[in-house]
Order: sequence, then C-alpha cells, then structure tokens
Amino acid sequence: MLTDIKPYLMYYNVAQLLKEPIGSTRAHNLDEFFVIDENIKVGANGSVVLVKTHSGVWCRVNVVCNMEAYCSRCLDDVLYSINIDLDEEYLPTVDITNGKTVYNQEYTDSSFNIDDKHGLDLTEVLRQYVIAYQVMKPLCRLECQGLCSYCGADLNMRLCSCYNELRLSGPYDNSASKLNNN
Ligand SMILES: [Zn+2]
Ligand SMILES: [Zn+2]
Repeated sequence: MLTDIKPYLMYYNVAQLLKEPIGSTRAHNLDEFFVIDENIKVGANGSVVLVKTHSGVWCRVNVVCNMEAYCSRCLDDVLYSINIDLDEEYLPTVDITNGKTVYNQEYTDSSFNIDDKHGLDLTEVLRQYVIAYQVMKPLCRLECQGLCSYCGADLNMRLCSCYNELRLSGPYDNSASKLNNN
C-alpha cells in the first residue's frame, strides 16, 4: 500500500538559484507520494536536476512512478509503474531582481511557470503524465473478464446466472441472431 500521501512536496524554491550564474545546478532526490484523485495514488522515485539558464531554470526529471489504481474492468487493485523523463525549461513569472511581473508570450503553458514565490512545482506536470497514461485504462490482467453489467458479479470468479439467461434470450449474443436472420 502507498501511504503517507502528502501533496505539493515536489515543489522547489529556486529563488537563490535564479540569482546565480547561468549553469549553476541543484540536484535533488525525489521520493514522494502524491494523489491524482481519490482513485489513484502515485509514489514517485528518482532524481531532479535544476540548472539556471539565461531566462529561467532547466528542469531534468527522471522518475519512476509506482501507481495504485483500480482495474478499469473489474475494479480490483492494480499496481503498475511508468517511467517519466522530463526535460523542460521553467520560466519565471516574477523578476527575481526587482519583484516585477514578467510578461512573456512564451508563457502559454502555465504548468512550466515558476510561480510568484519563485517556486517550481513538479506536481502538475507529473500529474499530467500519469493522467495521460490512465487514458490507456489499467487492467489487472490482459484477459480480465470484468464485472457483469447486470448484477455486478466478478466474471473472473464465476459466470453469474444472468449471463446465461441473457445469452439465451438474445442481447448478449447478437452474432447468433444475425446468422439466423440471414
Ligand atoms: Zn480486472
Ligand atoms: Zn450477472
């Protein structure tokens, strides 16, 4: 089980780094838990390297995300992991030297902004990666039979009686009725 869920720990204050020369570096180990929604818990483990650039901070993330989710067919627990490699430049929204708001038309994607407290938050971008992966619908196993849509029985465990009844009465077995009509 993934426990000790604490959001927003993948947040780095880069105020000092922004004042340093181009090429200055910070390396962090990342070992945190976060929650996508109540159904998906993620444990992220890896490294974060932050490098001062001309206009912001280059962020190189290398993490394995271990996830606990539900099978999209039978709702059983599923544990799986994905690798995330991120190479992105985060740009400041506030000038570190004078505190003024920076306007730049490159700021189209707000998830790559350094916030007004000079914080660089990886939570959102990792969340997006995980959600993109979720679209592929996790399965407990490839051949999972799922739940009966009528009585909710787990068809991996047994075939419920409605399965047989519906099969005989038609709706489940369109292919047979089509053959008969021909
Ligand atoms: Zn399943
Ligand atoms: Zn059933």
